[in-house]
Amino acid sequence: MAVPLLDLNAQYLPLRDEIAAAVSSVLDSQHFILGPVVEAFEASIAKYSGCEHAVGMSSGTDALLAVLMAEGIGPGDEVITTPFSFFATAGAVHRLGARAVFVDIDADTFNLDPARIEAAITPRTRAIMPVHLFGQMADMGPIMEIAQRRSLCVVEDAAQAIGAEYRGQCAGSIGHYGCLSFFPSKNLGGAGDGGMVVCRDAARADLLRRVRNHGSRTKYYHELVGGNFRLDALQAAILQVKLKYLDGWTAGRQRNADRYRALFAASGRAVLHASLLQTPQQIVPSVEAPARRHVYNQFVVRVRDRDGLRAHLQRRGIGQEVYYPLPFHLQECFVGLGHKAGDFPASEQAAREALALPIYPELTLGQIEEVAGAVLEFLEQHS
Ligand SMILES: *Cc1c(COP(=O)(O)O)cnc(C)c1O
Repeated sequence: MAVPLLDLNAQYLPLRDEIAAAVSSVLDSQHFILGPVVEAFEASIAKYSGCEHAVGMSSGTDALLAVLMAEGIGPGDEVITTPFSFFATAGAVHRLGARAVFVDIDADTFNLDPARIEAAITPRTRAIMPVHLFGQMADMGPIMEIAQRRSLCVVEDAAQAIGAEYRGQCAGSIGHYGCLSFFPSKNLGGAGDGGMVVCRDAARADLLRRVRNHGSRTKYYHELVGGNFRLDALQAAILQVKLKYLDGWTAGRQRNADRYRALFAASGRAVLHASLLQTPQQIVPSVEAPARRHVYNQFVVRVRDRDGLRAHLQRRGIGQEVYYPLPFHLQECFVGLGHKAGDFPASEQAAREALALPIYPELTLGQIEEVAGAVLEFLEQHS
């Protein structure tokens, strides 16, 4: 039985009529750019995230870019972030002429290791950009403590983490900004590109509204140079429908994660921390750090022979993906930063060992057993 990595149709089909009605109503209004539908969705996301303000953006990438533009970050500035994320995180910094300063990750959570931040701060540091990778929040307590002491801006890349929590606080609501993505494969996915910035500060939100609209508050009068980073009304209408189901989907993802963990534990092959992974017969299932609500945009395991496991699952027709095969500091486009292999060993090891398994909410227990069975079959071959 083949199991795909993600099955968007399984989510769409039960909502088909509701989504069609929402799309139809925007078409009937012929109001496509910003306007009441976008505003209503912004209000819903602000409430959901526990933030006063939310500003719809054309994508998660543009949300990151607009925030850095609003903070005036540019040449000569440094932004501290992780080398192990989707490209947009470092790309946004580089596009503005600023320098992305990488800090290695914690091996269990794949997130920025706060213990290493202080050493990376220089007089040019302007911001820290933690990523809540795979749906689990970075260790925001110490990150905020450092940022406050050093007067740095904190931009949460929450593109994979809508609804995730850290000590009861929602992703995006702890730093100065939280950037969300509604790319179709994210936990709240649109019918195309979309994103949002949540923040608690009215002045920052107001500035972002201008940045996303060519720096203009009044048509044809430009206070600053921004861009076209606007969220479409059609996307907002669809996402507003889907938001009602998000917590149910998250519960499904968490249930599936628990099922995987139980199956791997029962095999006797699971070890609970990356540092305990010693043999090719072992597996580290996705690790939940304390005081977090993990929303499982991805369920990522670690094994020694990741490429072997990947090929095995491919032969069995089981979806899997490598997030991410090459950390930022080794990317061709960043050679100018002057890094070399070995600079960020935890990120490099994650790039060699991590593999995402199917975790979408509609998976059946039978499908989870199929995936876990194929994984365990591969690990046994190493005995
Ligand atoms: C998806 C993603 C983005 C970018 O979002 P888009 O909407 O695809 O532009 C940024 N950061 C991370 C960590 C992501 O996963």
